Formats: sequence, C-alpha cells, structure tokens
Amino acid sequence: AKDLKSSSILIVGAGTWGSSTALHLARRGYKDVTVLDPYDFPSAISAGNDVNKIKGWQDTESSEGGDDESYVRLTVSAEATAAWETDPVFTTYYHETGYVIAASQPEHIKELYDDEKPSPERGFVELNTAEDFRKTMPKGVLTGEFPNWKGWWKKDGAGWVHARKAMESALREAQRLGVKVVAGSPHGAVTSLIFENGDVRGAVTEDGTKHYADRTILCAGANAPQLIDMKDQLRPTAWTLAHIKMSEEETKLYKDLPVMFNVERGFFMEPDEDKHELKICDEHPGYCNWSTEDHRVSMPFARHQIPLRSEDGVRLLLRECMPHLADRPFSFARICWCADTPNRDFLITAHPQYPSLTLGVGGSGHGYKHIPIIGRYITDCLEGTLDERMKKVWRWRPETAVDRDWENVQGRMGGSYKVLNFADIPEDQWTKIKESGPRL
Ligand code: FAD
Repeated sequence: AKDLKSSSILIVGAGTWGSSTALHLARRGYKDVTVLDPYDFPSAISAGNDVNKIKGWQDTESSEGGDDESYVRLTVSAEATAAWETDPVFTTYYHETGYVIAASQPEHIKELYDDEKPSPERGFVELNTAEDFRKTMPKGVLTGEFPNWKGWWKKDGAGWVHARKAMESALREAQRLGVKVVAGSPHGAVTSLIFENGDVRGAVTEDGTKHYADRTILCAGANAPQLIDMKDQLRPTAWTLAHIKMSEEETKLYKDLPVMFNVERGFFMEPDEDKHELKICDEHPGYCNWSTEDHRVSMPFARHQIPLRSEDGVRLLLRECMPHLADRPFSFARICWCADTPNRDFLITAHPQYPSLTLGVGGSGHGYKHIPIIGRYITDCLEGTLDERMKKVWRWRPETAVDRDWENVQGRMGGSYKVLNFADIPEDQWTKIKESGPRL
C-alpha cells in the first residue's frame, strides 16, 4: 500500500479546523496536502475569522475517573491550553487577561455556580455588587450599575485569543511546510464530493475541476451538511456580533481587560489592536435558517448585518456595564455560523460508509479555542490512531439525532430563550450599518 504520508490529502474548508488540520498534517510529514475554500483566506464566513474568542480557564480536575465525555473534554482542553502556552505558531495570540463570569437571574446564577464551581481555592473572587464588578477593570471602563448581576473573577489561567491572527498563523506555517491552498471562487468552492466505487475520491469545485485525492477531510463547518448527508447530526446555527469604534485614548484605557461574560446577556473583551473596535456578542440560543417546512434543514447564508433584536441585546449588555457606550453606532456586525451536534461534542470520525472520507465537524460553539491541537486529533483519526475514548465520544452517532428536537436551546441562555428562525425576521428588522464588510 502507498505510504499514507506520500498520498494525496484534500481538506475541504480552510477555516478554523481546516487550517489546524493542514498544519498538523504538514508537521507530521505529509507531502501532498491541498486545502480548498470558496473565499480568499481568511474566509469571510469562517467562524474563526473574528478579532477574538474566549479561551476559558483550564479545569484542574483530573480527567481520569469521570465519564468518557468529561474525560475527552478535559483532556482536549488541557492540551489546547498547553499548546496556547508553548506552540510558537499560537503563543503570540493568547492574551491571559483573566475572565469574569456572571449571571443575573437567581436560577441562572445557581446553574452557573454548579457548572463552573468557581471557588476561592480554584482562584475565583466572588463579585456581588456593582462596585465589585467595576473593580475588575481600570477606572472609567465599567460605569454601569450591573443590576442583579452576580459573578466570579478569575485573574489568570484564562483570557482571549486573537482568532483571525491565530488562524492565519496556522495556515501560513502549513503553507511554509508545503501545503497548497486553493482559495476563492470558483476554483476553491467545492460543489460536491466525488463519489466513486462506494468511496469518496476527492471533490469537484465550481470551475469544474475534479480534485482527486487518496483521502478527503471535510472541515466545511456549518456548510458540511450541504456536501454529505449528516443524518441530522449537525444543526447549522448562527450567532451575532457587533463592533463599535473606540478612540485612541479609550483603546489604551481598555487594554488587557479580562473577558466579561454574563451568560444571559453576552460578552466582550478589549478592543482590537488594529482597528480599535470593541466587539460585543449578545447571548442567545441562536438563529437557524429553516428552509423546509419540517424545520430539518438550516441553510447558512452570509450577512454583514444582524437582526435588530440582537442589536437590542448588545445595547442592553452595554447599558448594564458601560452605559457611556450604549448608544454608540456599530461600525461592523455580522452573523456567524457554527454547527451543533445534539450533545455539543465534536464529530471527528471516519465516515462509516466512505472509508477515504474523514469528518472534522461539529464545533458546537466551542471549537475555536482548540485550534492549536484539533488538527492533531483529525490527523490521528485519518491515521486510525485516535485515542479510544475520543473515538467513542466523537463517533458517527446518527442514533442520537433521531427525531432531533431542532428547537433545543442546547444549554444556552439569553435573548428570548428560544432558537429563532431568520425567516421570521423581516428585512426592516435588520441593522443597516454602512460599509460593514461585503454583503455576501
Ligand atoms: P469554520 O471556521 O467556519 O470553517 C469552515 C470553512 O469551510 C470556512 O472557511 C468556509 O469558507 C469553508 N467552506 C464552506 N463551504 C465550503 C465549500 N463548499 N467548499 C470549501 N470550503 C467551504 N469558540 C470558542 O472556542 N470560543 C469562543 O469564544 C467562541 N465564540 C464564538 C462566537 C460566535 C459568534 C460564533 C459563531 C462561534 C464561536 N465559537 C467560539 C465557536 C467556534 O468559532 C467554532 O466552533 C469554530 O470556529 C468552528 O470551526 P470550523 O472549522 O468547523 O468552521
């Protein structure tokens, strides 16, 4: 048999997981790797093309002893943390500025406490009053009343990562090591996989080119179900983000802020260093774009605007923490798609029917922080050497999606506490931000 490392490998999608996979294949000595993506890199629709993402704290609990799901989550998270701290491709982009986690309603405060166990022994400081919250940041940043907020502050071991830059760094290094990137349309846009003799033999792009490959790895994020029947295991769901422009002085004052995350309201970090924009996400269970009557197909689309109800959510968060910014116009906004599995564990597996197809999908809203190491597991999977427990937890599991509850909030709070349908949002109920990036 041909040596796997000399065989041709095609990665569909140069987003978060595709870039990481390209990097790890190249590092392991694969010589013939090509990545396809419909957008110039970094893709305007990649969930990872964003100024920042949260990198939560590393749970110090032992990963042994729990069930397989907890073992896998803890192990992967520990390995990601280690890589953010030591892998030169990624270290520059990790900002260990700390993390404030909070909620407002008593039952959600309790739920948060039970989930996170934010005890002083684990390095958390309890926050009960508006003044407690204000003291987590330099004077003048938090001017709000924090009505009914209760939270916990962890000063180290957590923070945020520069998402776009880390993703660029990963793919740049992969390219330096020989990976070929075909990005842009029509030449990088995969219209279908090549099904031949009961297997997948590569992919066809919009320009008609057939990219034959010995192995194909699907990392197309929320668009994966358009290329292979995922048997209801992925629900493409969108979240929303908005930016406001900060002045030079504000950017200085707002530097090195801890992440502020209220699980009912949303989150923000410091303004980005290039454009001096503060990104804010409103928290809610997500929007789908149901394109069939029975609500089983959510079709992603790109848009650099957000529904006005999300604008209201962003402004509510600002009013409670930083009312002096609450009415400032947005300079940018977009919807951002990710794909949830029914239990929000990843789906990294060989396809049961097509032996040459590997799936690296199901980021489930927490797939970014794993960018330094996720490609290592996807490569292990390709090689058939994935850790047994990961293999089990990330398996092909359509039985868990039978009669799937498509409206399930999957543990998320905020907004209307419901998964909403973009189709129900009239055109005049969207923001109209000028020059908010391409209307794709
Ligand atoms: P993507 O990064 O979206 O990549 C998919 C790629 O496939 C894209 O580049 C796309 O262009 C390409 N593609 C699509 N169609 C095709 C095609 N036909 N042919 C070829 N290529 C194609 N995670 C965290 O860890 N921390 C956070 O704080 C966090 N915050 C988030 C906030 C928001 C608003 C959102 C939406 C997600 C957040 N996530 C966070 C989740 C995280 O961003 C995702 O889980 C992760 O980025 C998913 O990576 P992916 O590679 O699967 O998808």
